[in-house]
Amino acid sequence: MSQPERFEILVLGSGEGGKYLAWHMAQAGYRTAVVERQLIGGSCPNTNCLPSKNEIWSAKVADLVRRAAAFGTVACAILLMIQQFLKT
Ligand SMILES: Cc1cc2nc3c(=O)[nH]c(=O)nc-3n(C[C@H](O)[C@H](O)[C@H](O)COP(=O)(O)OP(=O)(O)OC[C@H]3O[C@@H](n4cnc5c(N)ncnc54)[C@H](O)[C@@H]3O)c2cc1C
Repeated sequence: MSQPERFEILVLGSGEGGKYLAWHMAQAGYRTAVVERQLIGGSCPNTNCLPSKNEIWSAKVADLVRRAAAFGTVACAILLMIQQFLKT
């Protein structure tokens, strides 16, 4: 049976806080492990920052398309696709 691995630093959580702490500890020469109980990367890439930015950007595009006629543009098909994207 193999020996259990040994670490000097154990970081709980792989979010913005945890990943930078782990990176700095490893850079400083400590044998470091990260334990994540749910989503690798924490809430920023999985539920908060990136998903909210996508939704905000999609809403801005949908609003622009809705007002396309004011700019002399017809964009019915594009609006349908964006509405479908917002549903998923
Ligand atoms: C809608 C929204 C949009 C945002 N947009 C931005 C943005 O554009 N730019 C920006 O800089 N910030 C943004 N933020 C803030 C950003 O998401 C947080 O500041 C950041 O995610 C906090 O990182 P954290 O490491 O403290 O926590 P988290 O990212 O929440 O990470 C904590 C991690 O620890 C894990 N964990 C907890 N307990 C344990 C345990 N006992 N054992 C193992 N793992 C555990 C969790 O599962 C989780 O993965 C936004 C926040 C929200 C709500």
